[in-house]
Amino acid sequence: MLVDYHTHHVRCGHAVGELKDYVQAAIAKGVKELGLSDHQPILHLPPEKIVPGSAMPVAELPHYVQEALALQAQYAGQIDVKVGLEADWIEGYEERVRALLAAYPFDYVIGSVHFLGDWDITNSAELAGWDTRDAGAVCTEYFRQVRLAAQSGLFDTLGHLDVIKRFGHVPVALYEHLLEETVLLVRDAGVCVEVNASGLRYPCAEQFPSRRLLEMMKSHDIPLTVGSDAHQPNYVAAGLGTVYDLLREVGYTHIHGFTARTRYEIAIE
Ligand SMILES: [Zn+2]
Ligand SMILES: [Zn+2]
Repeated sequence: MLVDYHTHHVRCGHAVGELKDYVQAAIAKGVKELGLSDHQPILHLPPEKIVPGSAMPVAELPHYVQEALALQAQYAGQIDVKVGLEADWIEGYEERVRALLAAYPFDYVIGSVHFLGDWDITNSAELAGWDTRDAGAVCTEYFRQVRLAAQSGLFDTLGHLDVIKRFGHVPVALYEHLLEETVLLVRDAGVCVEVNASGLRYPCAEQFPSRRLLEMMKSHDIPLTVGSDAHQPNYVAAGLGTVYDLLREVGYTHIHGFTARTRYEIAIE
């Protein structure tokens, strides 16, 4: 069954299309469950340090959730719309994020490491940040933050686990030694990992996480979610056929969906 648990929309400032456009695109593509998961407003930076168009303003969050809930009701019977959020893992901001998440009836929450301090490592406009840092040290810090995110208990699934490779300039050799420890810790934390097809559209030219990581995760039976990370409606479900094929090859027969933050199995056949 085709599902997509990672999408954005115009409120975040770097995506196009209204929520409704994503729902309609999903229906047209035969998606049975569509997760709306726009970016959490940025809590850890003062306004003057936020790169414009990084995430929705704090004041928009209630409107986002309200609109998503209305679409869930409106399209019930045609498609199962899930109301979610892609939250940021920022060390030291756990309680603020916990309070924010508790204020809304989310079906699920993706936890993603985008920021190392005030540097957004996933933003192509901030690639200059690599010039002044040691790439190996950046990888070490990135995976340390991923492990903290897994252990935090804040999230249902971990977004784009090896997104550090997104722009194609970080060789696997720089972080290979960090993967096993990360996988074991994710297993112990009992959290899902997202298989994110957007990497297929980036210079790294493969899904997050890599096949190698997926094989490691399968050997520990780590549960998965899948998502396109669409930032425009025509990318809903994009690449998920490739992802499903890969998951079957690796030996996965199920992924997971969520209702009211409770996980259930979905067969991928
Ligand atoms: Zn985004
Ligand atoms: Zn993300």
